[in-house]
Amino acid sequence: MSEAETLLYLDGVTVTFDGFRALNALSLVLNAGEMRAVIGPNGAGKTTMMDVITGKTRPDRGKVVFSAATDLTRLDEPSIAALGIGRKFQKPTVFEPLSVWDNLLLALAGDRGPRFSLFARQTSQEKARIEAILQTTRLTDQRHRRAADLSHGQKQWLEIGMLLAQEPRLLLVDEPVAGMTDAETEQTAALLREINKTRSVVVVEHDMAFVRALDVKVTVLHEGSVLSEGSIDHVSKDPKVIEVYLGR
Ligand code: ADP
Ligand code: MG
Repeated sequence: MSEAETLLYLDGVTVTFDGFRALNALSLVLNAGEMRAVIGPNGAGKTTMMDVITGKTRPDRGKVVFSAATDLTRLDEPSIAALGIGRKFQKPTVFEPLSVWDNLLLALAGDRGPRFSLFARQTSQEKARIEAILQTTRLTDQRHRRAADLSHGQKQWLEIGMLLAQEPRLLLVDEPVAGMTDAETEQTAALLREINKTRSVVVVEHDMAFVRALDVKVTVLHEGSVLSEGSIDHVSKDPKVIEVYLGR
């Protein structure tokens, strides 16, 4: 194999809030098909990095290039989502009164498809896609339950499922296992690894057991720049990383 294809890169991205540099000339390269874990202390700029990629925050300087040619810093949030970048926020935004199935059915339509209500007849294609998403997200047995009655972890998985319904090429996930049980955390790592078979993923997380279970390249952010990068074993032995984590 020759050099891997780049899906996304950030080049010298700086974001300033009232004179404070949340991102400081941040550069990062994500290969097509890669899953990357991003860790770093509170305030390191992890969420701001997601905000820049999705168009929520416009950088003062720098480029964010997706799929070889598109400079995301010139686009608004809906246009970036339409390019195939899906983002999961920390707080689930599922429709609580609806069943798991109906949540996924609505998500399939997004804001473009012909499905405008739950009362239109479901096509066999829609059913097959929902079945596949239920399986990936470990929710097959929960399909008839109201989203409101799911556990915290299951709600997070449903939200991931709703993003999958939109077939993103790149999935951004911010602190997915916060508040989950150990068993749910383990299953979330397996779920993301499965998703990564067909999509690229960037996952921000504090939970080191989870990051270890992902078994992917790790980027450590500190004060808005990359402090260290490599396998989890490599970065956890890096004196710079040890100082940042233990020094506070
Ligand atoms: P992380 O997700 O790594 O914990 P954030 O990206 O949320 O860090 O924040 C990085 C820094 O930028 C923090 O010091 C935070 O207070 C600041 N920050 C983030 N968003 C804003 C904002 N909208 N206005 C002002 N400061 C912000
Ligand atoms: Mg954050």
